[in-house]
Amino acid sequence: MSSADTPVRVSGGAEAPLVVIDHVDKHFGELHVLKDISTTVARGEVVVVIGPSGSGKSTFCRAINRLETIDSGTITIDGTVLPSEGRELATLRADVGMVFQAFNLFAHKTVLENVTLAPMKVRGLSRKDAEARAMTLLERVGVANQAKKMPAQLSGGQQQRVAIARSLAMEPKLILLDEPTSALDPEMINEVLDVMVGLAKDGMTMIVVTHEMGFARKAADRVLFMADGRIEEEAAPEQFFGNPQSPRAKDFLSKIL
Ligand code: ADP
Ligand code: MG
Repeated sequence: MSSADTPVRVSGGAEAPLVVIDHVDKHFGELHVLKDISTTVARGEVVVVIGPSGSGKSTFCRAINRLETIDSGTITIDGTVLPSEGRELATLRADVGMVFQAFNLFAHKTVLENVTLAPMKVRGLSRKDAEARAMTLLERVGVANQAKKMPAQLSGGQQQRVAIARSLAMEPKLILLDEPTSALDPEMINEVLDVMVGLAKDGMTMIVVTHEMGFARKAADRVLFMADGRIEEEAAPEQFFGNPQSPRAKDFLSKIL
């Protein structure tokens, strides 16, 4: 049977893709920002999304988390097609962690409270269990000793690591990270990338928008290059960086490498 005849299974089975994005289009008014986007993400896969500013990378991430609606196409996560709204959406969204460029911690809550809040509210954990889980995660990202502090007392790199711990606390099936190191001072970038490499090694399914090509080479299973709302090229990192195919990818890489 040729691969074209193979049915795409979108539910059940550990081998089925965790994320299936099928012919997704999105406009902002006249602006066509996502153009016929189709791709899949396997369980445990790390996909790095790169491309010029304005190419639709953030909109792509936000659509997967339904922070943006889409005009057409479908996004399926673990066998369930994402609805556009409703209670079911909240549950599905809780399965997808998101870490943004700006740290987005709750400014008036301690680090520990930032990490325990959603697991208690959304997952129904007791405070004791939520705190135990939070401390394990804060340990994992190297900021357990900051648990009692307020976010503003932490460095940017520490805050971003707390943001990662906070999303892990929901035990998401997938984590989206949209330029998680772009707002950081240079000396703090590696401490966050190291945490991300650790997650990748632990088998976390991740979609990461980043300009950090060292991370892409080290941790990505696949690079997805976006330009002008399209997936222009998709390849393993060694292939993409060593032998980009499209003129746009060649041009982009010549500017950043
Ligand atoms: P990237 O993350 O690759 O820089 P974005 O997904 O943020 O790209 O943006 C893609 C395009 O959509 C850009 O032209 C941007 O200006 C536009 N855009 C993004 N968000 C909105 C919005 N809420 N309303 C209107 N235009 C938007
Ligand atoms: Mg962006």
